[in-house]
Amino acid sequence: MAREKANKRHTRKEASVPQLKAAAPARPDPATLEIVIWPDPVLTRRAEDVGTIDSWLLQVVERMKQLMESHEGVGLAAPQVGLSLRLFVMAEKAKADQAVAVINPVLELDSQTEEAEEGCLSLPGIRGKVMRAKTITLTGYDLKGDPISMPLEGFPARIAQHENDHLDGVLILSRMPPSARIALGKKLRELRTRS
Ligand code: ZN
Repeated sequence: MAREKANKRHTRKEASVPQLKAAAPARPDPATLEIVIWPDPVLTRRAEDVGTIDSWLLQVVERMKQLMESHEGVGLAAPQVGLSLRLFVMAEKAKADQAVAVINPVLELDSQTEEAEEGCLSLPGIRGKVMRAKTITLTGYDLKGDPISMPLEGFPARIAQHENDHLDGVLILSRMPPSARIALGKKLRELRTRS
């Protein structure tokens, strides 16, 4: 939808200066955001802290919740919609109206780990076993800017770790054993060559 708009870039005064990696992210129309597929470089870059919660950011969060639900995902991180910002949404039952948004999250991981299969909306067709902490404490800020702290266990703890990884530019591919990555070689090549 609105494909021509998706490529539109905001022009800034400093646009004549070569863009550095650390440049402030563009603020595209939230309605044009779509899920970004690997190997888009935004997925392997460390995202920047969110500085202000304004109406644009709230619209981005709403769009992310919608995309998460329509793609039957249980979580979605801002880099997955092309925005290099430390923010994710998650909902165990893949429902937008039950989704929690976490801004500038920080995770404290317990030492006990467990392995389970994961998929990723930015890696269609790819699934693999990933080791994660069984219990975590997720802290960060809600959409009002109030601090939050949530103890999570099992599946929700796994979702939060997966989404938080996206903010560090880490994908499930690098959490899988090398043998699993080799087995996925053909699928990964297909993703690399898709236009
Ligand atoms: Zn993912």
